[in-house]
Amino acid sequence: MTTTPHSSPLTSSSFTSTRNACKLCSPLGACLVMRGIEDCIPLIHGSQGCSTYIRRYGISHFREPIDIASSNFVEATAIFGGRENLFTALDNVSRSYKPAAIGITSTCLSETIGENVPMYLKQYEAERAKGLRNNAGLNPVIFYASTPSYRGTHMDGFHEAIYAAVSTLVKPGKEIEKDEEGRINLISGFVSAEDIRELHSILQSFRIPYTLIPDYSESLDGGSWETYQKLPAGGTTLKDIRSMGEAAGTVYLGIAPGKNDAGKWLEDFCAVPLHQVELPIGIENSDAFFAVLSEITGEEIPDNWTKQRQRLIDAYIDGHKYVNGKRALIYGEEDFVVGLVSFLDEIGVIPVIAATGAESTTPKGKPAGSANLRERINNSLRNTRQKIEIMDDADFVTMLEKAKDLEPDFIMGHSKGLYLSRELGIPLVRCGFPIHDRIGGQRILHLGYRGTLNLFDLICNSLMEAKQNQFDKGYTYL
Ligand code: SF4
Repeated sequence: MTTTPHSSPLTSSSFTSTRNACKLCSPLGACLVMRGIEDCIPLIHGSQGCSTYIRRYGISHFREPIDIASSNFVEATAIFGGRENLFTALDNVSRSYKPAAIGITSTCLSETIGENVPMYLKQYEAERAKGLRNNAGLNPVIFYASTPSYRGTHMDGFHEAIYAAVSTLVKPGKEIEKDEEGRINLISGFVSAEDIRELHSILQSFRIPYTLIPDYSESLDGGSWETYQKLPAGGTTLKDIRSMGEAAGTVYLGIAPGKNDAGKWLEDFCAVPLHQVELPIGIENSDAFFAVLSEITGEEIPDNWTKQRQRLIDAYIDGHKYVNGKRALIYGEEDFVVGLVSFLDEIGVIPVIAATGAESTTPKGKPAGSANLRERINNSLRNTRQKIEIMDDADFVTMLEKAKDLEPDFIMGHSKGLYLSRELGIPLVRCGFPIHDRIGGQRILHLGYRGTLNLFDLICNSLMEAKQNQFDKGYTYL
């Protein structure tokens, strides 16, 4: 895309196929999951630049160092294949990190040249079993997520990596016995570290054993260290993942498109019933989430959550005059967008544009990330009568063009919406991933009654600040 020195990237009149795509790289989502598993190191099968890009994104959002290994493709590898590079990388990573698990994620390059990683892994395992590898005798679990970025988004990589970890570690079979205490599996969706901490609090309040995957609440947002930690503590333990087949139910926040659905796999191979719910943003979605937890566990919803719910309703009443009838442009991951639509509709905001970078079908016509997006959004609406511009495969230039006609009052999404906000002269309420231009993106709470309350306050205050800034006089009561 060409831009003049004084134009923003959104004002270019030249056209290329995608102009500032509203999606991120597929292995990025996979790496996030892998760092959400205890003692697991992500290994990118591709060139160094891919791991640098992903580290850069993660570090800017989480403000923590993130080690991501690479099999380091060079020109010769692209021609002759990356088998030897991968074997060397597995040896090196085993020796230097001593991980419990290595998660391999493919890249555009390794997928384009047709690398058969599952076959390589069988060969590597055979050599490792015979003691032929230079791995100091260390035998971490290895799992592989196929993540071609030209055919998906970071969400596809995210779901695929969960699927790869679960289907590698859980051993289906008749001998699987159900946990007597009613274990529950919660697959968290692409949410913040603070959201994961909230999900832990919610699950703990039901007093049942559980597996929450992925869990980067500590590994990517822990305390400070005196010495560098190559693999910071925290994450879903391998033991807990292995126990997922014994659960009384799996709750999947959001929807994994296509075949890479760990919840469906657990249902099909381990007879663990799958409950798919939308991200618990807003009262309706949070109610549905708590209801399903109550149903699986047979426990009443603990009082403190009921009180949080009442506090949220009270806040809606206090703030309705600031938000009612306002118009919003929202964008981000498909699950996140559906959650936001439901919440905004609930508080009287009209979500005039709901955009995601995911496509609805793959090039082969199979369902992709935003399949059923329109239906999911329509199911979330109870108040809005106006037509919503639902955009899949969206980019920020097209969003701006549509927004000029639809005149939103504010924007909700990650940092990449800054130029939209500037061009349209309306506030950007930062949420989701990535937040590169503010501190604390990893600590934004979006989920449950408390998360919804946080988002509600952020919206009200952004609108109030924008109004305040319109006047020379300093109105201190709004
Ligand atoms: S080349 Fe592909 S895999 Fe690598 S960073 Fe770019 S989009 Fe991601």
